[in-house]
Amino acid sequence: MNILLTGGAGYIGACTALFILKLNPNFKCIIIDKEETQNIKKLQILFPNNIKFYKIDMCRMDLLETVFNDTKVDGVIHFAAYTIVSESEKETYKYFHNNINSTLNLLELMKKYAVSNLIFSSSASVYGVAEYLPIDEDHPLKPVSTYAISKKICEDLILKYSERGINYVILRYFNPAGAIDGIGEEHNPETHLIPLLIRSMLEGNIFKIFGNDFPTPDGTCIRDFIHIEDLANAHFLSLRKLLGEEIKNEIFNVGINNGYSVMEVVLKAIEMFKGKVNKNFRYIIDSRREGDVPALVAKANKIKNKLGFYPKYTIEDILQSVWNYESQKIST
Ligand code: UDP
Repeated sequence: MNILLTGGAGYIGACTALFILKLNPNFKCIIIDKEETQNIKKLQILFPNNIKFYKIDMCRMDLLETVFNDTKVDGVIHFAAYTIVSESEKETYKYFHNNINSTLNLLELMKKYAVSNLIFSSSASVYGVAEYLPIDEDHPLKPVSTYAISKKICEDLILKYSERGINYVILRYFNPAGAIDGIGEEHNPETHLIPLLIRSMLEGNIFKIFGNDFPTPDGTCIRDFIHIEDLANAHFLSLRKLLGEEIKNEIFNVGINNGYSVMEVVLKAIEMFKGKVNKNFRYIIDSRREGDVPALVAKANKIKNKLGFYPKYTIEDILQSVWNYESQKIST
């Protein structure tokens, strides 16, 4: 099987490629990305015969077409997107242009080359401010940020192209975190809670909690954290069922059906790593960050029932894996 992973040099894409190839030594992963990151080098070392990498901008239809010309693709997992919510508020054109045009080009080429199986990385942010919790897939879609709107538009494009023979699974991620086999979060700039918290604990910096006046029990935001290996597995299960024609045209939340507040995560990490934390570490309450919604927790029954997806990992597993990953970076 030849699986095309767009944005496969990034955190979630590379972890998914790793997960798929570990289970399926006969699969080939064709990876497209604007950047050639360390993750590509790691994957090429681990799987020298299974990775084909193209450094291209998917907004260039002519370049993207070379990939479809070169190889018969059996299924596509479309991760490629700009993903920083705060940046998207300042760079509206950049986010809409990149996220939407890359998806449109991909869909058009999938149609042209009769590639019918697509898994799309969507986001819980398409729901906007939760009207009830936990959030099921039928919750109204009221995306707030430019990033979230771009994901919603891409979902709509996919729905339209499904009338032209493309079978999709849309995965709405809640909060992916954690590391596997030396691949962890390396966004630039990093904005996510768990890597920033663990880095502060190791390096002895001040960690800022953005707001404690939200309408939640302790006033800090609540999120549903999903381990990256579980998320990779959700992609693999979707792919297997799509390729086997057991499902088509489905939308699934991917979370663990359980939320933790930012304060709970901070206190849990302090408890777990006491004795090892840099003595200069401390946390403070800062003002709210623009665009943050109070609580996002997935109702994740649908993916359990239709894909047999059961997350294996806990918040403690996530924190431990990020601690190991970040400690390793410091020691090398
Ligand atoms: N957060 C925080 N301090 C940080 C980074 C994040 O308090 O340095 C909070 C953020 O305000 C949000 C939660 O942690 O309430 C999760 O943020 P993250 O960026 O990890 O994910 P998001 O839910 O925004 O996609």
